[in-house]
Amino acid sequence: MTQTRRNWLVAGAATMLAPALPAAAALPPVGRQVASLYRTKVGDIEVTAVSDGSISLPAAVFGEANLAEARRLLAENFMPTETPVPCALNCFLVNAGGKLALLDTGSGDALGPTMGHLPANLAAMGVTADKIDTVVLTHMHRDHAGGLCDKQGRALFPSSELVIPEVEAAFWFDETNISKVPQGSRGGFAYAKQVAAAYQGRIRRLPGGRDVLPGITSQDAFGHTPGHSIYRVHSGSAQLLVFGDMVHFPALQVRHPEWGISFDVDAQAAVATRRRVFDMAAADRMMVAGMHMEFPGFGHMRKDASGYHLLPAPWRPAL
Ligand SMILES: [Zn+2]
Repeated sequence: MTQTRRNWLVAGAATMLAPALPAAAALPPVGRQVASLYRTKVGDIEVTAVSDGSISLPAAVFGEANLAEARRLLAENFMPTETPVPCALNCFLVNAGGKLALLDTGSGDALGPTMGHLPANLAAMGVTADKIDTVVLTHMHRDHAGGLCDKQGRALFPSSELVIPEVEAAFWFDETNISKVPQGSRGGFAYAKQVAAAYQGRIRRLPGGRDVLPGITSQDAFGHTPGHSIYRVHSGSAQLLVFGDMVHFPALQVRHPEWGISFDVDAQAAVATRRRVFDMAAADRMMVAGMHMEFPGFGHMRKDASGYHLLPAPWRPAL
Protein backbone atom coordinates (compact mmCIF):
# COMPACT_ATOMS: atom_id res chain seq x y z
CA MET A 1 0.00 0.00 0.00
CA THR A 2 1.32 3.42 -0.81
CA GLN A 3 1.14 6.17 1.75
CA THR A 4 0.47 9.60 0.30
CA ARG A 5 1.53 12.70 2.19
CA ARG A 6 -2.16 13.37 2.81
CA ASN A 7 -2.60 9.92 4.46
CA TRP A 8 0.31 10.71 6.79
CA LEU A 9 -1.23 14.03 7.77
CA VAL A 10 -4.60 12.39 8.49
CA ALA A 11 -2.86 9.65 10.53
CA GLY A 12 -0.98 12.35 12.46
CA ALA A 13 -4.22 14.18 13.30
CA ALA A 14 -5.83 10.91 14.49
CA THR A 15 -2.86 10.28 16.82
CA MET A 16 -3.36 13.70 18.39
CA LEU A 17 -6.97 12.81 19.21
CA ALA A 18 -6.13 9.37 20.66
CA PRO A 19 -6.56 8.91 24.45
CA ALA A 20 -3.34 9.43 26.44
CA LEU A 21 -1.39 6.23 27.13
CA PRO A 22 0.75 5.68 30.24
CA ALA A 23 4.02 7.58 29.70
CA ALA A 24 6.95 5.44 28.52
CA ALA A 25 10.33 5.99 30.17
CA ALA A 26 11.88 9.13 28.67
CA LEU A 27 14.87 8.50 26.40
CA PRO A 28 17.10 11.55 26.58
CA PRO A 29 18.96 12.55 23.39
CA VAL A 30 22.44 10.98 23.35
CA GLY A 31 24.12 14.14 22.08
CA ARG A 32 27.04 12.47 20.34
CA GLN A 33 27.64 10.36 17.23
CA VAL A 34 27.95 6.55 17.24
CA ALA A 35 31.45 5.13 16.80
CA SER A 36 32.75 6.19 13.37
CA LEU A 37 33.85 2.88 11.87
CA TYR A 38 33.11 1.32 8.50
CA ARG A 39 34.51 -1.86 7.00
CA THR A 40 35.10 -3.07 3.47
CA LYS A 41 36.86 -6.08 1.93
CA VAL A 42 39.65 -6.02 -0.66
CA GLY A 43 39.88 -9.68 -1.68
CA ASP A 44 40.94 -11.43 1.55
CA ILE A 45 42.01 -8.19 3.24
CA GLU A 46 39.71 -6.35 5.62
CA VAL A 47 39.97 -2.56 5.68
CA THR A 48 38.25 -0.47 8.35
CA ALA A 49 37.83 3.29 7.98
CA VAL A 50 38.33 4.87 11.40
CA SER A 51 37.46 8.54 11.82
CA ASP A 52 39.72 10.91 13.70
CA GLY A 53 37.06 13.63 13.53
CA SER A 54 36.73 16.76 11.49
CA ILE A 55 38.34 20.19 11.42
CA SER A 56 36.99 23.40 9.92
CA LEU A 57 39.05 25.29 7.37
CA PRO A 58 38.27 28.53 5.55
CA ALA A 59 37.53 28.16 1.83
CA ALA A 60 40.30 30.73 1.32
CA VAL A 61 42.89 27.93 1.69
CA PHE A 62 42.45 27.60 -2.10
CA GLY A 63 43.51 31.21 -2.66
CA GLU A 64 41.59 34.47 -2.90
CA ALA A 65 41.36 34.19 -6.69
CA ASN A 66 39.29 31.00 -6.42
CA LEU A 67 37.03 32.13 -3.61
CA ALA A 68 33.93 33.05 -5.65
CA GLU A 69 33.98 29.73 -7.53
CA ALA A 70 34.71 27.83 -4.28
CA ARG A 71 31.64 29.42 -2.65
CA ARG A 72 29.50 28.62 -5.69
CA LEU A 73 30.52 24.93 -5.54
CA LEU A 74 30.07 24.77 -1.76
CA ALA A 75 26.52 26.15 -2.12
CA GLU A 76 25.86 23.66 -4.93
CA ASN A 77 26.92 20.87 -2.51
CA PHE A 78 24.79 22.18 0.39
CA MET A 79 27.87 23.09 2.41
CA PRO A 80 28.52 26.29 4.39
CA THR A 81 29.99 29.04 2.22
CA GLU A 82 30.85 31.88 4.60
CA THR A 83 31.97 30.05 7.73
CA PRO A 84 34.91 27.61 7.87
CA VAL A 85 34.08 24.43 5.98
CA PRO A 86 34.29 21.02 7.71
CA CYS A 87 37.16 18.85 6.51
CA ALA A 88 36.96 15.18 7.54
CA LEU A 89 39.97 13.17 8.67
CA ASN A 90 40.01 9.40 8.20
CA CYS A 91 42.57 6.74 9.00
CA PHE A 92 42.44 3.17 7.69
CA LEU A 93 43.13 -0.02 9.62
CA VAL A 94 44.24 -2.82 7.31
CA ASN A 95 44.11 -6.44 8.45
CA ALA A 96 46.33 -8.20 5.91
CA GLY A 97 47.50 -11.75 6.49
CA GLY A 98 46.98 -11.59 10.25
CA LYS A 99 48.92 -8.33 10.67
CA LEU A 100 47.31 -5.03 11.61
CA ALA A 101 48.60 -1.94 9.81
CA LEU A 102 47.23 1.51 10.63
CA LEU A 103 47.49 4.02 7.78
CA ASP A 104 47.94 7.43 9.48
CA THR A 105 47.40 8.16 13.16
CA GLY A 106 45.09 11.19 13.20
CA SER A 107 46.01 14.38 15.01
CA GLY A 108 46.28 13.24 18.64
CA ASP A 109 45.84 16.30 20.85
CA ALA A 110 47.42 18.69 18.34
CA LEU A 111 44.32 20.14 16.69
CA GLY A 112 41.61 20.58 19.30
CA PRO A 113 38.53 18.72 20.49
CA THR A 114 36.86 18.12 17.11
CA MET A 115 39.83 15.91 16.16
CA GLY A 116 41.84 13.24 17.94
CA HIS A 117 39.03 10.67 18.09
CA LEU A 118 40.97 7.80 16.50
CA PRO A 119 41.86 6.01 19.80
CA ALA A 120 38.22 6.11 21.02
CA ASN A 121 36.94 4.80 17.68
CA LEU A 122 39.59 2.03 17.62
CA ALA A 123 38.65 1.10 21.21
CA ALA A 124 35.02 0.77 20.10
CA MET A 125 36.15 -2.09 17.82
CA GLY A 126 38.36 -3.61 20.52
CA VAL A 127 41.67 -2.44 19.09
CA THR A 128 44.21 -0.81 21.39
CA ALA A 129 47.49 0.75 20.26
CA ASP A 130 49.56 -2.25 21.42
CA LYS A 131 47.67 -4.55 18.99
CA ILE A 132 48.89 -2.62 15.93
CA ASP A 133 51.92 -4.22 14.27
CA THR A 134 52.76 -1.40 11.86
CA VAL A 135 51.88 2.27 11.77
CA VAL A 136 52.25 3.72 8.28
CA LEU A 137 52.25 7.41 7.34
CA THR A 138 51.15 9.01 4.10
CA HIS A 139 53.07 12.12 5.21
CA MET A 140 54.23 13.96 8.31
CA HIS A 141 51.59 16.71 8.65
CA ARG A 142 50.16 16.91 12.18
CA ASP A 143 46.62 15.86 11.19
CA HIS A 144 48.12 12.53 10.03
CA ALA A 145 51.12 12.04 12.33
CA GLY A 146 49.97 13.93 15.45
CA GLY A 147 48.66 10.72 17.02
CA LEU A 148 52.17 9.22 17.21
CA CYS A 149 53.28 11.04 20.39
CA ASP A 150 51.64 12.59 23.43
CA LYS A 151 52.35 16.15 24.65
CA GLN A 152 55.44 14.92 26.54
CA GLY A 153 56.82 13.34 23.36
CA ARG A 154 56.17 9.74 24.41
CA ALA A 155 55.23 7.13 21.80
CA LEU A 156 51.49 6.35 21.83
CA PHE A 157 52.08 3.07 19.95
CA PRO A 158 54.25 1.18 22.44
CA SER A 159 55.39 -1.68 20.22
CA SER A 160 54.51 -0.86 16.59
CA GLU A 161 56.98 -0.55 13.78
CA LEU A 162 56.69 2.93 12.22
CA VAL A 163 56.88 3.16 8.41
CA ILE A 164 57.61 6.59 6.93
CA PRO A 165 58.12 7.16 3.18
CA GLU A 166 61.89 7.54 2.61
CA VAL A 167 61.73 10.99 0.94
CA GLU A 168 59.31 12.25 3.60
CA ALA A 169 61.55 11.11 6.45
CA ALA A 170 64.65 12.59 4.80
CA PHE A 171 62.89 15.96 4.47
CA TRP A 172 61.32 16.39 7.92
CA PHE A 173 64.21 14.86 9.87
CA ASP A 174 66.53 17.54 8.42
CA GLU A 175 65.90 20.96 9.99
CA THR A 176 67.88 22.76 7.29
CA ASN A 177 64.74 22.36 5.11
CA ILE A 178 62.71 24.65 7.39
CA SER A 179 62.64 27.59 4.96
CA LYS A 180 61.12 25.38 2.23
CA VAL A 181 57.72 24.94 3.90
CA PRO A 182 54.85 27.42 4.47
CA GLN A 183 55.12 29.30 7.79
CA GLY A 184 52.18 27.40 9.30
CA SER A 185 53.87 24.00 8.78
CA ARG A 186 57.26 24.79 10.33
CA GLY A 187 56.42 23.25 13.70
CA GLY A 188 56.58 19.95 11.81
CA PHE A 189 60.37 19.85 12.15
CA ALA A 190 60.33 19.94 15.97
CA TYR A 191 57.59 17.29 15.99
CA ALA A 192 59.56 15.08 13.59
CA LYS A 193 62.49 15.24 16.04
CA GLN A 194 60.20 14.04 18.85
CA VAL A 195 58.91 11.21 16.67
CA ALA A 196 62.45 10.15 15.74
CA ALA A 197 63.39 9.96 19.44
CA ALA A 198 60.17 8.24 20.58
CA TYR A 199 60.33 5.55 17.89
CA GLN A 200 64.10 5.13 17.79
CA GLY A 201 65.10 1.67 16.57
CA ARG A 202 61.71 0.83 15.07
CA ILE A 203 61.40 3.30 12.17
CA ARG A 204 61.49 1.85 8.66
CA ARG A 205 62.11 4.40 5.89
CA LEU A 206 60.27 3.01 2.89
CA PRO A 207 61.26 3.85 -0.71
CA GLY A 208 58.38 4.17 -3.22
CA GLY A 209 57.08 1.01 -4.85
CA ARG A 210 57.92 -1.27 -1.89
CA ASP A 211 55.70 -3.42 0.30
CA VAL A 212 54.76 -2.26 3.79
CA LEU A 213 53.43 -5.77 4.34
CA PRO A 214 52.37 -8.34 1.74
CA GLY A 215 49.25 -6.75 0.21
CA ILE A 216 50.13 -3.10 0.96
CA THR A 217 52.46 -1.38 -1.54
CA SER A 218 53.58 2.27 -1.47
CA GLN A 219 53.63 4.65 -4.43
CA ASP A 220 55.21 8.10 -4.68
CA ALA A 221 52.66 10.93 -4.84
CA PHE A 222 54.89 13.92 -4.08
CA GLY A 223 53.82 17.55 -3.95
CA HIS A 224 51.49 18.15 -1.00
CA THR A 225 54.61 17.31 1.01
CA PRO A 226 57.99 16.35 -0.47
CA GLY A 227 57.54 12.63 0.21
CA HIS A 228 53.72 12.33 0.33
CA SER A 229 52.90 8.71 -0.52
CA ILE A 230 49.82 6.65 -1.31
CA TYR A 231 49.21 2.95 -0.69
CA ARG A 232 47.75 0.26 -2.91
CA VAL A 233 46.01 -2.45 -0.89
CA HIS A 234 45.71 -5.54 -3.08
CA SER A 235 44.57 -9.15 -2.84
CA GLY A 236 44.12 -11.28 -5.97
CA SER A 237 42.58 -9.00 -8.58
CA ALA A 238 40.95 -6.71 -5.96
CA GLN A 239 42.60 -3.42 -5.12
CA LEU A 240 42.02 -0.25 -3.16
CA LEU A 241 44.07 2.92 -3.51
CA VAL A 242 44.43 4.74 -0.20
CA PHE A 243 45.34 8.08 -1.70
CA GLY A 244 46.08 10.26 1.34
CA ASP A 245 45.72 13.98 0.71
CA MET A 246 44.88 13.94 -3.01
CA VAL A 247 41.89 16.06 -1.97
CA HIS A 248 41.12 18.16 1.12
CA PHE A 249 37.62 19.25 0.05
CA PRO A 250 36.42 16.68 -2.49
CA ALA A 251 33.47 18.88 -3.51
CA LEU A 252 35.99 21.45 -4.76
CA GLN A 253 39.19 19.75 -5.86
CA VAL A 254 37.58 16.95 -7.87
CA ARG A 255 36.01 19.63 -10.08
CA HIS A 256 39.15 21.79 -9.86
CA PRO A 257 42.16 19.48 -9.61
CA GLU A 258 44.29 22.49 -10.58
CA TRP A 259 43.59 24.12 -7.19
CA GLY A 260 46.44 23.84 -4.73
CA ILE A 261 45.90 24.32 -1.00
CA SER A 262 47.91 26.70 1.17
CA PHE A 263 49.49 23.74 3.04
CA ASP A 264 51.05 22.33 -0.14
CA VAL A 265 54.85 22.40 0.02
CA ASP A 266 55.00 22.31 -3.80
CA ALA A 267 51.54 23.24 -5.14
CA GLN A 268 52.49 22.71 -8.79
CA ALA A 269 53.78 19.20 -8.16
CA ALA A 270 50.68 18.48 -6.03
CA VAL A 271 48.41 19.44 -8.94
CA ALA A 272 50.32 17.23 -11.41
CA THR A 273 50.19 14.34 -8.92
CA ARG A 274 46.46 14.83 -8.32
CA ARG A 275 45.74 14.59 -12.05
CA ARG A 276 47.99 11.54 -12.45
CA VAL A 277 46.42 9.71 -9.52
CA PHE A 278 42.84 10.64 -10.55
CA ASP A 279 43.59 9.39 -14.09
CA MET A 280 45.02 6.13 -12.79
CA ALA A 281 42.08 5.51 -10.43
CA ALA A 282 39.54 6.30 -13.18
CA ALA A 283 41.29 4.22 -15.88
CA ASP A 284 41.77 1.19 -13.60
CA ARG A 285 38.26 1.55 -12.04
CA MET A 286 39.96 1.18 -8.68
CA MET A 287 38.20 1.97 -5.43
CA VAL A 288 39.90 4.88 -3.69
CA ALA A 289 39.98 5.89 -0.04
CA GLY A 290 40.80 9.45 0.97
CA MET A 291 42.00 10.75 4.31
CA HIS A 292 39.91 13.93 3.81
CA MET A 293 36.97 12.46 1.91
CA GLU A 294 33.66 12.50 3.76
CA PHE A 295 33.61 9.55 6.19
CA PRO A 296 34.01 6.65 5.59
CA GLY A 297 35.98 7.94 2.63
CA PHE A 298 35.57 5.18 0.02
CA GLY A 299 34.57 5.90 -3.58
CA HIS A 300 35.39 5.70 -7.28
CA MET A 301 36.74 8.29 -9.71
CA ARG A 302 35.17 8.74 -13.11
CA LYS A 303 36.44 10.93 -15.93
CA ASP A 304 34.37 12.31 -18.81
CA ALA A 305 34.45 15.32 -21.13
CA SER A 306 33.40 17.66 -18.29
CA GLY A 307 36.23 16.51 -16.00
CA TYR A 308 36.52 14.27 -12.96
CA HIS A 309 33.72 13.00 -10.76
CA LEU A 310 33.86 11.26 -7.40
CA LEU A 311 31.19 8.68 -6.62
CA PRO A 312 31.12 7.87 -2.89
CA ALA A 313 30.72 4.11 -2.34
CA PRO A 314 27.28 3.13 -1.00
CA TRP A 315 27.06 1.77 2.56
CA ARG A 316 27.03 -2.04 2.43
CA PRO A 317 25.61 -3.76 5.52
CA ALA A 318 27.40 -7.04 4.73
CA LEU A 319 31.05 -7.62 3.86
ZN1 LIG B 1 45.86 16.27 5.67
